[in-house]
Amino acid sequence: MNYLKEELYAKIKSDDKVFDFLQNSSLDGLYYRDLENPEREWRNEQFWRTLGYEAAELSDRKATLREMINRKDLAAAARRLEQHLADPAVPYDQVIRYRHQKGHTVYLRCRGLAIRNEEGKATRLLGTHVNVTNEKEKAVLLERSQEAARIGTWSVDLVTERVEWDKMTRAIHQVPKDFQPSITMGLDFYKEGSSRETIARLLDRAMTTGEGFDTELQLITATDREIWVRAIGRSDFSGGKCTRVFGIFQDIDVRRRNEERMLNYSILEAKSKEMEQFSYIASHDLREPLLTIKGYLNVIREDFAEALPTEVLGYMDTITGAADRMDTLMKGLLDYSRLSEIKQLQEVNLEDLLGEVIVDLTSAAKGIDISYDYENLPSVAGYPLELKVLLQNLIGNAIKYRRISEPLRIKVTCEDLQEGWRISVHDNGIGIAEKNLKKIFKLFCQLHQKGLYDGSGIGLANCKKIVELHGGRIWAESTLGEGSVFRLTIQTRVELEGKRKAM
Ligand code: ADP
Repeated sequence: MNYLKEELYAKIKSDDKVFDFLQNSSLDGLYYRDLENPEREWRNEQFWRTLGYEAAELSDRKATLREMINRKDLAAAARRLEQHLADPAVPYDQVIRYRHQKGHTVYLRCRGLAIRNEEGKATRLLGTHVNVTNEKEKAVLLERSQEAARIGTWSVDLVTERVEWDKMTRAIHQVPKDFQPSITMGLDFYKEGSSRETIARLLDRAMTTGEGFDTELQLITATDREIWVRAIGRSDFSGGKCTRVFGIFQDIDVRRRNEERMLNYSILEAKSKEMEQFSYIASHDLREPLLTIKGYLNVIREDFAEALPTEVLGYMDTITGAADRMDTLMKGLLDYSRLSEIKQLQEVNLEDLLGEVIVDLTSAAKGIDISYDYENLPSVAGYPLELKVLLQNLIGNAIKYRRISEPLRIKVTCEDLQEGWRISVHDNGIGIAEKNLKKIFKLFCQLHQKGLYDGSGIGLANCKKIVELHGGRIWAESTLGEGSVFRLTIQTRVELEGKRKAM
C-alpha cells in the first residue's frame, strides 16, 4: 500500500478530527443504524443542519424524520433497502425528497452500505447523504422549459449503433414511452420526399465532414399526424472517425402553421387590394365613355327623334336600357372598391340608423304592407356611412325579395355574445335554397332569372365587406318559400379599436 494511504488510514483510526473533517467537508449527512434495533441510530449534526435544524431542536428525531420524507420516496427507498440487505450486489443509492424546516424541498442522494456478520447477515447500515437540490432543481427547470418549448433530445452512438430519444422526442413522435428507435426507423418518420432526403443528406454530411445542421422538416407521427419539426444536429469525432451524432428536436408545428396562415393571408390581402384597384379603375374610368354614350343617345333622341324610324328608336331604347344597367353595375363596383378606405371610427347607434333606413325605404315602397319589429339595438364603434349601406342593403333586399301573397314582416334582433354583438335581420320572404346560402355574398351573384328583380348582385358582397371592416362576419340562414335571416357580428368597441390599430 502507498505509505501515505497507510498513514491516512492509521490517522483516521487514531485521530477523530481526521474522520470528522472528512465527513463534514464531503458529506451533507451521515448515519449509522443498528439493524437489529432499527430505532437505534446515530446521525451526524450536518444532516440536521442540511434540513435546517439545530441539533438541540429535535427531541424525538425518529418520528420527525419520517414525516420529513416524501411518502412516495420513502416507500421506494424502503423497497430498495430491502433488496440491498438481501443481496450485497444490489447497491442502495436513492435520491430522496425531504421537507426542509422552512418548507421547501431538499433532494438528498442517499447511499447505504449494509455491514454484515460472519454469516453474511446485515447487522448495521452505514449511510451517507449528499445534497443534490441544486442539480435536481436545474434538471426540473430544464425539463419544464423543454416541455413548454416542446424541445427534446436525440443521439446516435455510431460505435454501439444505439439511438437515444428522450421523453419529449418520443412524445413528439407520438410513440410509447418504452419505444426503442433504430437509425433507419428514426429517418422513416420524416415525410417521404424532400424532408426525408434532406435529413438523410444532413446526417451523412455531419458524419463525414462534421458539419452541423439546423433545419425545419415535416414529420409523420406514429398516429399519422403531419407536423413540422426543427432538427438540430452536431457530431463528435474521435481519431478522425465520427463516433456520435446528437442534437435537439423541437415541435414547431403551431408556429409554422401560423406563419403559413399569415403568408396566405397577406397573399390574399394583396390579391384583394389588386382586385379593388382593378374594380376602381374599371368602374371609374369606364363610366366616363359610358356617360358619353348615354349623353349622345339622349341628344339623338331629343334632336332627331322625328327623323328616325320607329324601329331605330326601339333599338335606341334597348341601348339606353343596357347602358343604364351597365351604369348601375359600375356605380356599385365603385362603391365596393371604395369601402376599404380607412376612415375614422365613430359611435353609431344602430337603432337610430335603422330608423332612418326604414323611413327612406318605406317612402320608396309605398303601397307595400310592411311591419317592422326591432328594439334595444346597441351603439357600436363603426363607420356610419358604411353601416347605413349595410342596413339599407339588408332591409332593401327583404323588401325586394318578399312574397307577394303575404304581408311582409321584418324583424331585427340583437344578442350580446362573447365575440361581440350579433345582429339578425329576419324576413318572411321568398327564402334562399340551402346550396346558395354562401354564394349570395359573392360579387355579381344573383339567384333569380334576369329581369325579374332590379339589382346588380353587389349588395351582399358590399355587406360582407362592411361587416369584415368592422371585425365581424356575416352569414344567412333560410328556408325556401318561408323566409331568411341575415346574421352578422360586430365586435365591441375596445377589441375593434385594437384590431384596427394592428392592421
Ligand atoms: P341584388 O342586387 O341582386 O339584390 P345582392 O347581393 O343584394 O344583389 O343579393 C344577391 C342575391 O341574393 C339576390 O340576387 C337574391 O337572389 C338573393 N337575396 C338577397 N337577399 C335576399 C332575401 N332577403 N331573400 C331572398 N333572397 C335574397
